[in-house]
Amino acid sequence: MFDCLIYNMKEQMALFIIENNGQIALIDTGTQNEVDNLLNYLQTINIDHLDYIFSTHIHADHTGGVKRLMTQFDAKIVVSKFYQTLPDSKFSKNKSSLTEYYDYLGKNLKDRVIYVGEGDVISLDDLKLEIYNAPGHTPDHIAILDKKNMNLFPGDSIGGHHLGTGFSRPSAYPPYFNNESYSQTIKKLSLINNLKSISLAHFGVATDLEVQEVFNITENTFNAYKDTVIKSYEQNNGNLQSIITALLNKFGRSPNEIKNNRPDTLVKQYLGGISIGFINSLNLKSKFKGE
Ligand SMILES: [Zn+2]
Repeated sequence: MFDCLIYNMKEQMALFIIENNGQIALIDTGTQNEVDNLLNYLQTINIDHLDYIFSTHIHADHTGGVKRLMTQFDAKIVVSKFYQTLPDSKFSKNKSSLTEYYDYLGKNLKDRVIYVGEGDVISLDDLKLEIYNAPGHTPDHIAILDKKNMNLFPGDSIGGHHLGTGFSRPSAYPPYFNNESYSQTIKKLSLINNLKSISLAHFGVATDLEVQEVFNITENTFNAYKDTVIKSYEQNNGNLQSIITALLNKFGRSPNEIKNNRPDTLVKQYLGGISIGFINSLNLKSKFKGE
């Protein structure tokens, strides 16, 4: 695990490096600003090549470094099959980060992309990495299971966690969040047998008893956030600020936000995003009053 110090913040974004008999994979890249941190780190642990770069989903903290890393290393990039069908999907109608990424993969990395879907396996010698489609946070999201160590890399598909404190926040951000598939993904991943650990992008590695706890907390928190948004939406006639206040009062700031004195405006921005994510996905829009 490597803390890429995203936007100079500690314990916010973890990247994972898997090495097996000389074959090396990187799970997610950080934004382009953290690539130097990563390259320096790889040097200190004597890694001079990458065989595979997995990008779990479109967001900049998971794919922002792809361009530079693909120039630096002769690696293959592993992404969801979702991108193979993008031109036919509703996402191609509007210029979005998804369509931009699709264009980039297709035009610049044509021979170096591996498109994967449910059940596909990428091997690092005898270590098999199995793919799970994990949509909900975004439609292109994949989770990766290291079958040798029974370690899961869920990306952002099960939200953000502060291990050891019980704090969790659903990653229900617009424009791509889908309530139904997010909930199904949590269930599906929680049913993986004999899981020994979960390597969380945000943030850390859950082991032993924490593994089931992470799924329980994920599901409970997801439902509690959703209920709070719906209830507050009804009570306050769709007023966004009231919904944000209700979420802040009920769930508070994360231990990390408290420790680092993260400004209220930033925390409210996150909660505003989550509110809009739920409102859009649950089709509550008709009464939406905005700010
Ligand atoms: Zn994300």
